[in-house]
Amino acid sequence: MIKELSVKTSSQVELIDITHMVEKVVSESKTKSGICTVYVPHTTAGITINENADPSVREDIIKELNKIIPFDDNYSHLEGNSAAHIKATVVGSSETVLIEDRRLVLGTWQGIYFCEFDGPRTRKVIVKIVEG
Ligand code: ZN
Repeated sequence: MIKELSVKTSSQVELIDITHMVEKVVSESKTKSGICTVYVPHTTAGITINENADPSVREDIIKELNKIIPFDDNYSHLEGNSAAHIKATVVGSSETVLIEDRRLVLGTWQGIYFCEFDGPRTRKVIVKIVEG
């Protein structure tokens, strides 16, 4: 099964915890065991899994990404959002999580994050579940 979610971002660069949204899709699918892929069909956004306990981890990730990939650096791309494209490539556009006992197999401190790099916008997240 496949499900499309909508995520509304409110900053230019932002990490949003979407774990609960993905858990809901898994729960509604009634999949006992399988694989869940979370994918963004965008060139300036990404998906990552990281710590969900201390919000300062998110802030540090954003701070360091902005440092190593500056907003302006004589980029060639005329649209002016090359930094966002590069960040999206560094982070990647999907994550795969196992499903067991109708739940996502995530570590205690792990959350699934939608990564906005060229917001604010309304974005799509596609969740595909394969039973097995
Ligand atoms: Zn662009």
